[in-house]
Amino acid sequence: MPWKPPTPIEVYQLLPKTNCGKCGEPNCMAFAVKLVNFDATVEQCPPLVEDKSYAESLQKLRALLSPPVREVVVKSSKRVVKIGGEYVMYRHELRYMNPAAIAIDVDDSMDKDTILKRVETIEKFEYEYVGRKLKLDLIAVRSVTNDPKQFAKTVQIVAENSSLPLILCSTNPTVIEAGFNVLPQEHRPLIYAATKDNWRDMAELSKRFDAPLAIASPGDLDTLVSLVATLSEGLGLNDLVLDPGTFVGLNGLAYTVKAFTWLRHKAANDLWKYAGYPLIGTPISVWTQLEGDVMDKMWWEAIMATLLMTRYADVLIMHSLDGWVLLPQVMWRFQLYTDPRKPVAVPAGVREIGKPDEKSPVLVTTNYALTYSIVLSDVEKAKVNAWLVVVDTEGLAVDVAVAGRKFTGEKVAEVIKAAELDKKVKYKVLIIPGKAARVSGDVEDATGWKVVVGPMDSSEIGKFIEKMWTEDKLKELIGQ
Ligand code: SF4
Repeated sequence: MPWKPPTPIEVYQLLPKTNCGKCGEPNCMAFAVKLVNFDATVEQCPPLVEDKSYAESLQKLRALLSPPVREVVVKSSKRVVKIGGEYVMYRHELRYMNPAAIAIDVDDSMDKDTILKRVETIEKFEYEYVGRKLKLDLIAVRSVTNDPKQFAKTVQIVAENSSLPLILCSTNPTVIEAGFNVLPQEHRPLIYAATKDNWRDMAELSKRFDAPLAIASPGDLDTLVSLVATLSEGLGLNDLVLDPGTFVGLNGLAYTVKAFTWLRHKAANDLWKYAGYPLIGTPISVWTQLEGDVMDKMWWEAIMATLLMTRYADVLIMHSLDGWVLLPQVMWRFQLYTDPRKPVAVPAGVREIGKPDEKSPVLVTTNYALTYSIVLSDVEKAKVNAWLVVVDTEGLAVDVAVAGRKFTGEKVAEVIKAAELDKKVKYKVLIIPGKAARVSGDVEDATGWKVVVGPMDSSEIGKFIEKMWTEDKLKELIGQ
């Protein structure tokens, strides 16, 4: 049976029902609604967690809300990355939870300068898209020398120079142990990987260092499942990640997609508990599996990463660092993991575009991510220093927000007041979007500022400001 979300009533029955408000909600029913929408966690109800008399209810609630695919945490001292934790097979059934984590490799045959350069590039990779910063998540340190000392040296260099959590990659337990021995305690790396030949030693390391363990059984799902059963039931390991293998070429592709899909199908439909773990894909495999030139390999790596992210990898290990390989991955990931039930929104508030001063124009827009990023880009293109008032319209575009009473004078006033914008500018004049013309009076009344209706299309904003934002016109407008 596919996972079914509990109803608010089912959840409410297990809450303390005292309406104490310690969770920040007015009553337990409101908190129950937040829990079923995954906008809160049970830990946010202090009585439930702290009062031992609720222990049984807490346990039942956790079981009710736990995902069919286990959530596994890897971390460094500065970053936490959650993988898996998925509830559904198809995004439209709910939403996908934890974006697939992208790891880039460094290996222990690289010299220090090369490692540092790669780490710096990985750390600095960032692309701003509809108000979000899209980044890489992990560094996979691979042992290619099979030398514990060399591996430890590489792990140490990476850990000292990066904020990202790590994946320690070797099938030699002595090598992995050497990596752990130089890692600061706050790190919780993913061990990659246990196989049919080394699983006992790897399981021992996973337990000793409290680190999640990937199980690799490329092309052999029977062995993969048997290893999961042994490690989970026999040895009590719960934080597992499964690698069914990543293969290129026509047959390889078909096998890879089938294996990943089969595992997720079994997990999401509660058909097989051994499949209920995050999946790891290794697009980096193209570098060893393919003959040919570098560009071909990069193309294949990009294709495999996109494919695996779509079907259903929760972690990817990659090698290419070129923007044209990575950019499609982070953009596609953004689309896949966006909640289809909610418009994409950016936080409300006042943004500075360029270096605005007291005479700079003040523009108003909504917090719908696409509108926001278009306005931002149009103003930047026009090379205008400006203040941008972003109103919380619950992620709706201007015309829809005006019609639905989400873009109101009161909301504009709230943002201006919170940012104390009146202390930062000389002319209390707001330029509102052309599509919000019919609420101009409401905005004037609520803010006490003069309102000018701007162009219908923000691409005209540069010319508009050039024409109207002159000292004479502003003085005339505010009656000086
Ligand atoms: S903190 Fe818990 S008991 Fe108190 S109102 Fe919230 S859900 Fe109810």
